[in-house]
Amino acid sequence: MTEQSSAKPTHLSVLIINGGSSSIKFALYQVGEPLKRKLYGKIDRIGLSGTNLTCNDPIGNQRNSYSIAPSDHRSAANILIDWLVKRDEFASIEALGHRVVYGMKHIQPEIVTPDLLDELHRIGPYDPDHLPREIELIETFRQRYPKVPQVACFDTAFHHTMPREAKLLPIPRRFDAKRVQRYGFHGLFYAYLIEELARLGDPAASKGCVILAHLGNGGSLAAVREGKSIDTSMGFTPTGGFMMSTRSGDLDPGLAPYLLRIEQMTTKQFYEMVNHKSGLLGVSETSSDMRDLLSHETGDVRAAEAVALFCYQVKKWIGAFAAALGGLDTLVFAGGIGENSPTIRTRICGGLGFLGIELEENRNAVNEGVISAASSRVAVRVIHTNEEQMIAHSVCTYSGLML
Ligand code: ADP
Repeated sequence: MTEQSSAKPTHLSVLIINGGSSSIKFALYQVGEPLKRKLYGKIDRIGLSGTNLTCNDPIGNQRNSYSIAPSDHRSAANILIDWLVKRDEFASIEALGHRVVYGMKHIQPEIVTPDLLDELHRIGPYDPDHLPREIELIETFRQRYPKVPQVACFDTAFHHTMPREAKLLPIPRRFDAKRVQRYGFHGLFYAYLIEELARLGDPAASKGCVILAHLGNGGSLAAVREGKSIDTSMGFTPTGGFMMSTRSGDLDPGLAPYLLRIEQMTTKQFYEMVNHKSGLLGVSETSSDMRDLLSHETGDVRAAEAVALFCYQVKKWIGAFAAALGGLDTLVFAGGIGENSPTIRTRICGGLGFLGIELEENRNAVNEGVISAASSRVAVRVIHTNEEQMIAHSVCTYSGLML
């Protein structure tokens, strides 16, 4: 890795780090237009048994997996760096990009400075599952490569355009002054999807009304008018919105004091329940994985109910956002479930003909880019997301590397 040497190699690269609660995804891009992905992979199951560092090399079509034993994100990052330095591609790194879950007042990517790190430490408790680990990753790379610029790309930034009524929570006003509000997340995915829509020539990307449905292990919807977010399903934390793989989504707030009183639950137990034991896993009692549930829904009523509840909730949010937007031109499905499951898309879109949504089942069955019928007023699309590429674009722009 060079540390901004004056004699730059001809092929500059940026390294993207996307830290999750128990994983680190990474991707190395060669700077240029278009960006060229040279290497990507992930470390998963950090802090659990069976941790692997897996690497995909799109050029050589190689795939390697190494068993490792990191105790936390910091040691996983050190293992990753020790592994990366042996790769030729890593020698030309000019900047690093990180996904950061909360941006608070930051509405665009920022170069990491000591002040920004202090600020991230202060807001760490907002999302104890993600933010402290993301900070550890930034600090580890900063320690090993202090002169290489790092760019923080914020998941909340895309939603800064939401109007006041979408951000404000109906609780005492003094909390608003303390920045307790709807932030919304998955902003890097959404920015990428809107860019892709524009690239595909869909006029709704800049002039129309769009609903973006990111359906993965985590999931949310965004209502986008003229390319700008006007509302989103997640709220103050990524636990809000519709049910996800293990998160509950929105609940009656009265449930918290009830369970704390009746079940003598602690705050920590409640947090664990709504983040890690609810959603598809909680309702099915067997799996948080949509593929598993679809494969045994005919013989297991709990699996069938979990899938049905998921589709029902997403459908309701589509209806709500069509109303908030005052119409709908394009609906986009993305994320592991959104991109790969014709069955789930059919169930979500079923009965939405009154909104102008009609699927063409042959195209839907093979996950085509456009899955709506010719007669459908709303274009329904499937777009493969690439969050790391979106971060790489931001890194090049904000660290002064020309594409
Ligand atoms: P993450 O949010 O962790 O990045 P993904 O976007 O990879 O997650 O989504 C994971 C989800 O996608 C899992 O529930 C998985 O079962 C689901 N999924 C992946 N492929 C399919 C498929 N062919 N049919 C149904 N669900 C699928």
